[in-house]
Amino acid sequence: MLAVLRSGWLTTGPRVRRFEEAFAAAVGTPHAVAVNSATAALHLAVEALGLGNGSRRHAVLVPTMTFAATAEVVRYMNAVPILVDCDPVTLNIDFADAERKLAQATRGELAGIGGVDVVGIIPVHVGGVMVDLHRLREFSAAHGVWVVEDAAHAFPAAWRRDADDSWTRCGNDTSVVSCFSFYANKTITTGEGGMAVTSDRRLADRMRLMSLHGLSRDAWNRYSAGGNWDYQIVAPGFKYNLTDICAALGIHQLARAEAMRAERELLAMKYAERLRPIAEIESPPWPSNRLHAWHLYPIRLRLDRLRITRNVFIDELQKAGVGCSVHWRPLHLHPYYQQTFAWLPDQFPIATREWERLISLPIYPGMTPDEQEHVVDTVSELCSKYKTVKQKSAVVTRTSQSGRSRT
Ligand SMILES: *Cc1c(COP(=O)(O)O)cnc(C)c1O
Repeated sequence: MLAVLRSGWLTTGPRVRRFEEAFAAAVGTPHAVAVNSATAALHLAVEALGLGNGSRRHAVLVPTMTFAATAEVVRYMNAVPILVDCDPVTLNIDFADAERKLAQATRGELAGIGGVDVVGIIPVHVGGVMVDLHRLREFSAAHGVWVVEDAAHAFPAAWRRDADDSWTRCGNDTSVVSCFSFYANKTITTGEGGMAVTSDRRLADRMRLMSLHGLSRDAWNRYSAGGNWDYQIVAPGFKYNLTDICAALGIHQLARAEAMRAERELLAMKYAERLRPIAEIESPPWPSNRLHAWHLYPIRLRLDRLRITRNVFIDELQKAGVGCSVHWRPLHLHPYYQQTFAWLPDQFPIATREWERLISLPIYPGMTPDEQEHVVDTVSELCSKYKTVKQKSAVVTRTSQSGRSRT
């Protein structure tokens, strides 16, 4: 970091290039474009793919179970995000519902949307567990749609093909452009930052161009010795470049990425082991054919066994000093998407049901065993305190009360 400050090169320069090369090598792809957020990466990806440049209105399949960014970039291009329900186990996009929604959209049967051309799909690897790549490829080939991955949670993550036991890293040609996030709470961070990776040179060039005001290639070295002071604007681009200060952090984080992932995996194993006996809690899935990034540890409450709601459960956790969150309120339950596209909760039965019982427990490198014990103990105490009183235990209570009254 000091070296960056001493170099006098604070904005996009040699360290950004080094970070891009190191990241491309880490995921195994030829091109990486560093930008100042994953949202920027997603925006540049759909722009480079020509989203919105059609004679009919373009639409893109987007999971409802995701963060704001995944769908808003589709809106930036004046296209329509067609929301898709999630798989009940992984919470990743449900391909059966994607088929359904695509067919409805193509026939113009989705209220509030009208006739559209479905051109792409943006799956999210929720929490760091990759979508089924086999299904994804089948889907994209069958319907002739491009795939851009929202891989904000998925570095490092991988998927194993059962047929030959081979592993594929997220970003290694797993889609036309894979977009990673280095936001403060993500698996590796530059404070704010992101990366778009692709094996398509033309897409990489377009994204790089648009990431800095649409200035011609020469502009990139106009500040270096021998660089040209002149530049040409060839498109109305954006201001999405990453700084060398951030890239210096990124290079350092990248070197520790696998060690940090292993730390999160140990925490996840411990959670799974300690939460297993608690009947009121379900732990997240851990498919054996995935290298899991463990960005999140989302537990689900068995609401049928509890007398309190998820929101009250979170209040109680927070009172005990356990910081937690929910990933996410699904997009179809946000006013903007409801009002703009008339989505209804019963079009997404799984997401509507599951989000009500989701809680993401803290998981981060450096979390101490004591901190984790405190989380587990608090969850366990809350479950004992608020579990539904069953018929059988009601009898036990009466007996013990009569027992007390005898003494
Ligand atoms: C964090 C996140 C983003 C956005 O990342 P930024 O780098 O903050 O733009 C996009 N999608 C998902 C699923 C995220 O969790």
